[in-house]
Amino acid sequence: MKYERVLVVSAHPDDPEFSAGGSIAKLAKDGAQVTYVIVTDGSQGGEDPNQKDSELTAIRQREQRAAARVLGVKKVEFLGYKDGHLTADLKLRRDIVRMIRKYKPELVITHLPGRLLDAPMGGSHPDHIAVGEATFAAVYPDSRNPRAFRSLLKEGFPAHVVKELWVPYWTSGDFFVDISSTLDSKMESLKKHKSQVAKPGREWDFEKFMRKRHREVGKKAGYTYAESFKRIKV
Ligand SMILES: [Zn+2]
Repeated sequence: MKYERVLVVSAHPDDPEFSAGGSIAKLAKDGAQVTYVIVTDGSQGGEDPNQKDSELTAIRQREQRAAARVLGVKKVEFLGYKDGHLTADLKLRRDIVRMIRKYKPELVITHLPGRLLDAPMGGSHPDHIAVGEATFAAVYPDSRNPRAFRSLLKEGFPAHVVKELWVPYWTSGDFFVDISSTLDSKMESLKKHKSQVAKPGREWDFEKFMRKRHREVGKKAGYTYAESFKRIKV
């Protein structure tokens, strides 16, 4: 898989690894410069209502940077929106356009801009839907149109054409990436999100769960382990 620049736009810390970690590792290994844009501060990713937002946000940013490093991702941008409060409005679109124009990716990976009706509800977090929709709109038409968000021109970000979008879609994807050689890195990167995968009293055997899922997806494509996507040529 030969791509020079890839941008992963996700709602929360840990979303890139859960949804596409094996493919991200592979893209990076094959020479792509991969950048993450994490839209929210992750401050709702906990069970203790008394923990300070700023404390949890700092933990999650640290975990996200460590997880990115495991996969060969060098740069992580945090947009700092409040977790759980996202809508696909024009401000969010503009902020994502700024990132697209700054990093000039050929390939953007983001969330499905709608609800999954054939999977548990965890796959349809409202922030994921908002980021998916805002990113689709940012890719087309906003990023490529020099008349869209003209204040960005003054900031030094001219129009940029993205060629491809990948949407992780484990139930109905039809574009399969063989992650047999990078699944271990994906698991290692997920373990860096300690605040999420090792919650006291809510131990969850995520490793078993993820390996099983990727084995099942792999079966559809003749790979030992795979991640599946909808691949859209812009
Ligand atoms: Zn999420």
